[in-house]
Amino acid sequence: MNEFEFINSIKQQYYRQSTLIKGIGDDGAIISGSSDRLVVVTDTMVENVHFSLKYMTYSDVGYRVMAANLSDLAAMGCKPQFYLLNIVAPKNTQNSSIIEIVNGTKELANRYNMDLIGGDTVEGEHLVITVTAIGSQKHGLKRLRSDALEGDVVFCTGYLGKSAYGLELIKNNQIDKTSEFIQSHIRPNPRCDFAKITSNIKRICLNDISDGIASELYEIAEASDVDIEIDWDELPINHQMKQLNQHQLMEYVLYSGEDFELVGTCSAVDWIQIEKICLNNNINISKIGKVRRKKDAKPNVTININEKLQTLERKGFRHGSLD
Ligand code: ADP
Ligand code: MG
Repeated sequence: MNEFEFINSIKQQYYRQSTLIKGIGDDGAIISGSSDRLVVVTDTMVENVHFSLKYMTYSDVGYRVMAANLSDLAAMGCKPQFYLLNIVAPKNTQNSSIIEIVNGTKELANRYNMDLIGGDTVEGEHLVITVTAIGSQKHGLKRLRSDALEGDVVFCTGYLGKSAYGLELIKNNQIDKTSEFIQSHIRPNPRCDFAKITSNIKRICLNDISDGIASELYEIAEASDVDIEIDWDELPINHQMKQLNQHQLMEYVLYSGEDFELVGTCSAVDWIQIEKICLNNNINISKIGKVRRKKDAKPNVTININEKLQTLERKGFRHGSLD
């Protein structure tokens, strides 16, 4: 397959977004100005750092890098619209594998009505995939990490630590792909639906959980200059994981990455509405703590465990080698 055939094979038959003027096929894509704000996010995944082809298909890899981008858009309260896809692939990679990557991204793109409007495909030593995604945010929405206020409810979606636990199962050679933990790792579900159904609520401080909830909470506390207090007993933990010992469980739940859930804060009045909307739309959401006025010079995040308030460590998930 030559380059022309390749590009033709990944090009969409038609585009869905009405603001798109030119998609794939020229030196650049053209999007007409719209009345909403545009938000741009990007994420890169590197073979044997962020994923391994030993336990993921090319399609899983495409899906996952797309999910990471969609999670960022969700955390900005955006409606996904467009994306660009850059692939660096080793020389011996088959064309069909590259197309599988593209198809993996399209699985999520189709779900959220997005258009693939460009990218680049080049040779290199390792497989590296970058997605850049564009979404629209309604004027006047506040979704920044700096939008938390004293007195807010702290909440998070889904269950914590499932992705890292799934990776651990994979490393222990449990490769039953139907396991919900392994699914959370290789095919995470970005929370675009949360962004959509809460788009009438003006202020929600939001962050997505890519490095563990402890690290994300510190980012919020620091950006908003507040203290945050959470309660261990309120954290959403899958019942099967509760069989782990306390130390392991805390590592997964507080400090492990890539759940692609959302953590955020909102006013007590808005919380009542958000909880109800999520319930009606089958999105798991839990109230896990409170935003407090900053006590010391630096913002603090504390966790209440057995009625004792402890400072949460400010550590986050870092990728090691997956080789
Ligand atoms: P140029 O040489 O002008 O950079 P290319 O020949 O690299 O253009 O690409 C031609 C068209 O195909 C462009 O619209 C580009 O955005 C698109 N394209 C190339 N690779 C990809 C890819 N991996 N995913 C999506 N679009 C791609
Ligand atoms: Mg090019």
